[in-house]
Formats: sequence, structure tokens, C-alpha cells
Amino acid sequence: MDKKIVLASGNKGKMREFAALFAGRGIEVLSQKELGVAECAEPYGTFLENALAKARNAARQTGLPAIADDSGITAEALGGMPGVHSARYAGPQHNDADNNAKLIADLADQEDKRAHYTCVLVAVRSESDPEPVVVQARWSGQITGQPAGSGGFGYDPYFYLPEYGCTAAELSAEEKNAVSHRGQAMARLLPALAEAWGW
Ligand code: IMP
Repeated sequence: MDKKIVLASGNKGKMREFAALFAGRGIEVLSQKELGVAECAEPYGTFLENALAKARNAARQTGLPAIADDSGITAEALGGMPGVHSARYAGPQHNDADNNAKLIADLADQEDKRAHYTCVLVAVRSESDPEPVVVQARWSGQITGQPAGSGGFGYDPYFYLPEYGCTAAELSAEEKNAVSHRGQAMARLLPALAEAWGW
């Protein structure tokens, strides 16, 4: 495969998903971890800025085109939170259970339980690419105090989908990928790269 792109993530699950997505187009996905890329800070208040920082960082250190994703969950009643803080909502040392407990507590007095996941994908041809390719998608649901399911990860057991009558953690991986924020953003990526880069 003559086209190569570095994935600015050390996550093996994401690596598999991106490799599968690009394989059909003859594009090889390389893991930044295997290329020895040092991770960069993600200090920004938007998914877009954090994803762009990660993509640029990987492009700078490898000299290759790079792609990064940034994602999180936002509760309507919390004005943007947890947002870019989703992974560490309960604090730097805390885990999914603590993050979920904090989200439930924060929403306890709120009538509006609507929330959405967001995924932003950014691809750059080089560190100084003036035209990053950006796609993004949302997945809407409601935060429930009654968790259910063991699939997915993170906030999924508490992310209730009225149209399915279950939580995200009760969907199979295939079902989730077909409708999730990340699945939808990835579906938009190939046409965007074809248009911008001719890939
Ligand atoms: P990252 O973009 O992979 O760093 O994800 C940021 C954080 O957002 C994760 O650690 C989770 O807390 C949350 N998150 C993102 N996508 C999902 C999802 O599909 N299910 C559950 N939590 C998610």
C-alpha cells in the first residue's frame, strides 16, 4: 500500500477500527505508538482544537500524514460539560465508575437529562497543512440513573437511547458502530479525504 497515515492514538480498539476503514481504499494505518511518537498535551476547550493538536503532533514527529480523533459526552443541562473533560471528569486519578457517578450527581436536580456524544476527526497532510480535513458527528440520548448493559465503555451503561429502548452498553459492537458518534464520523471521513486529497 503506497498511501500511509499515522493514527494519533495509542488505543488498540481505535487502531483496529481505522485500519479496517482504510484497508478498502489501499491506505495503510500506522500506530503512533509503534512509531515512537511522544503524546502531546490536550489543553484546549474544544474537541476540534485537541484533535488538531494531536494530528499535527503526530505529523511533525513522523513526517507522514496523520489523523486524530477527539470525543466526549455533553449534557445539555450542564452547558458543555463534561465535554473535553469526559475522560477525567471526576479528576485525574478517577475511573469510569467515578466519572459516571459525578455525571449522575450533577444531573440529579436537573429535569433535562438529554446528552450527546461528539466525535471530531481531523486529518492533516503535514504539520503545517493549511487545510486540515475535519469531520464530526453527534449521537443523542438521555442520561439514565438506571445503568444497563456491559458492552461499550465509559458512559455507555448510562446513555439511554429512547428509539432503541436500551442503553448504548446494551447494543452489540456492530449496532453501536452503525449509529454512534464515532461510527458516523468515520463514515464521513472517506468521502471527505477523497474530495480533499484525492485518496
Ligand atoms: P477519547 O476521545 O477516546 O479520549 O475519549 C474521551 C472520553 O469520552 C472517553 O474516555 C469516555 O469517557 C468518553 N467517550 C467517548 N466516546 C465514548 C463512547 O463511545 N462511549 C462511552 N464513553 C465515550
